[in-house]
Amino acid sequence: MPTIYVLFYAMFLIMFPGCSDKPGEGTVLTVPNQTKEVSVMDTKKDEPINWQELTDMQWENRLTSEQYTILRKKGTERPFTGLYYLKPDKDGNYVCSGCGNIIFSTKDQFNSHCGWPSFTAPADANSVKQRRDSSHGMIRTEIICSRCGGHLGHVFDDGPGPTGLRYCINSAAMKLKTEEKSPKP
Ligand SMILES: [Zn+2]
Repeated sequence: MPTIYVLFYAMFLIMFPGCSDKPGEGTVLTVPNQTKEVSVMDTKKDEPINWQELTDMQWENRLTSEQYTILRKKGTERPFTGLYYLKPDKDGNYVCSGCGNIIFSTKDQFNSHCGWPSFTAPADANSVKQRRDSSHGMIRTEIICSRCGGHLGHVFDDGPGPTGLRYCINSAAMKLKTEEKSPKP
């Protein structure tokens, strides 16, 4: 019964289509520069997320490893490597990579040449909180997202006018939402 052998061979081809390749050798895994979209609802329960109660593991699942290291472990990205260290051409608001809270605006951004996005003020007085940070042998003022508590960066008093402040923020802790001009009716 030759048909059974033909079928068998077809099944073999289907099950092992690339068996002549050597996937283990010289394969470079290209991880796309993924930016996970912020969901403000828990899709399973369909109710707003209580950001303060998310566990470490839940954060790890929601964020890219870079976002997680910065936001949840107070990491700092290397200078001049982030997406936003230069003020962008388009105006818009920066939202927290963790929870989507609007934290900074491009209108307050300036090029400070320190290698991180710099702002004279947060988007509004309630969008971020300050916390004393005595790590690494320095006394600094840490800036955290007021909604999810994620670490954003630090604030220093060597900024330009009008506030004289320099909010030095990690690019990976934010996402820029540019203002779309709505078409005229
Ligand atoms: Zn947040």
